[in-house]
This record gives sequence, C-alpha cells and structure tokens, in this order.
Amino acid sequence: MVQQLSRRTFLQSAAAATALLTPGTHRVRAAFAQTELPESVLGFSQGGLPMSVYHLGQGSTRVLVLGGQHGGPEANTTYLVRQLMAHFSDAPDEVPAGVGLDFMPVGNPDGAAIGSRQYLSGVDPNRNWGGTDWRSDAYDSNAVYRAGLGGPEPFSEQETRTQGIWLLEQRPALVINLHSAGGFMFGGRDGLAGELAGAYSDASGYPLPAAGRGTNPLPYRATGSMNVWMREIGVLGLFVELTTPSDPEFRRNLAGMRAVLERLPAA
Ligand SMILES: [Zn+2]
Repeated sequence: MVQQLSRRTFLQSAAAATALLTPGTHRVRAAFAQTELPESVLGFSQGGLPMSVYHLGQGSTRVLVLGGQHGGPEANTTYLVRQLMAHFSDAPDEVPAGVGLDFMPVGNPDGAAIGSRQYLSGVDPNRNWGGTDWRSDAYDSNAVYRAGLGGPEPFSEQETRTQGIWLLEQRPALVINLHSAGGFMFGGRDGLAGELAGAYSDASGYPLPAAGRGTNPLPYRATGSMNVWMREIGVLGLFVELTTPSDPEFRRNLAGMRAVLERLPAA
C-alpha cells in the first residue's frame, strides 16, 4: 500500500497550523522552496518515522537514488542524496526526456536518528533482502559474523518489505544505492547494466573491481543484499561506496549520474 502525500499540501497544512502559534512561518516555507518536490510516504520505520521518496519529473523511465541505508554511520550518503535532489530540481533540463528521478535520502530512518547502521530490531538493512543468497546469520559492514543479522527470514523487517513492495510496483530502470566508506562500486558486467556501471565508474572515479575470483574488495561475504535481490528480479542496480564516511563527494557522484542518465534509454 503506497500512501501518496504531496509535500506542498503537507507544508501548506503545517504552515496553516503553525501560523496561529508562530510569527514568521513564511520564512520556514521559503527555506524549503528550493527542494520542494512531490513526496510519497511509502510506509513507516519500526520507530514510526516516515519512509519518504521525492519525485522529479514525469518520465516513465525512473531512476531511484537511495541514501542512508546504513543510517547514521553513513550519513554522508543522505547529504549526498539531498544535494543531488537540490541540484536536479534546480536544473531539471539535465534529466533527459522520458526519464524521471526518485530520491530516497534515508533508507533507514531509525538508524539515522540514533546513529546506528541497523534497524531498531538489530537486523541489517542490507542483509534482509530476498535473494537466493540470503542467510539469517551474516557478516556486518565491519566483517563481524553476527547471529540473526539478516533477520529471521527474508523481508522480515517492515522497512525492507516497504521498499521491496515499492520496487516491485515501480520497476525502476536503475537503482543507485549509496554507501560509505569503501571507495569502490559494484554493478552489472554485461549489456546495459555493464555499460551503466562502466560509465558511472569512469565519470566518478570509483573503481569497479575486475571480474574473476579473489577480486572482491569486501573482506567478507555480504548475503541478502538489496542489489542481489534486484538482480534476481531484473532491476538494474549500482552499489556505490563513497571514499570517506564524512564527505558527500557531490561532484564525483553528480558526474556519475550525468553519465548514466545520458546512456539510459527512455521508454
Ligand atoms: Zn553501507
């Protein structure tokens, strides 16, 4: 179930409510104007926080840009998504005809609020997806093997389920899943998936590991990840690890996004 909520409507009702109490509310609205895009609240986190996606453009070929899947420790990816959102809403002409952008700045709202990678349940947001490699016991981002980190079953957590249902409904042409701070990226090898991964890598400078055994830059096996599940259902994904845990690395990722948008066939 997707609940549609216009940001404009929300701000108008919020402004009307608070104008009675607070002088100068219009200044708050003005500060939001730059990134005032329509918002969908897909659902809520275990802690009751909204899971929001902001939409730019009507094109039917959609690109989802996801930040903050690992909450507070990777908050620079949330800042990056907000910066990209502001950039493209100020420069919508950079988005090719037929293409539209969806931005989810915070994939794990509770983790962002309390400075954790995991959901409130302790399950890892990127070990709980339903690909065939899912395991309940899994390695965390620090290569520590932890019982139940993947959840009792795939999609056991409401946040993963909410995002999974939305992806199945929306079928984006590409998902860019932003993490930190490994300083590399993964993507497809062949066809359009390979072309998009190569284009993002060349433009951004994040290296793509070479094909073959022993070339995985992760020192552990990441099971139940979002990108493996998406690959199995036929949704193209890029997994990008920023180089530091603090810098949003906006210019590099803007260059990467421009390179993939240029190559994305519009439906
Ligand atoms: Zn991460």
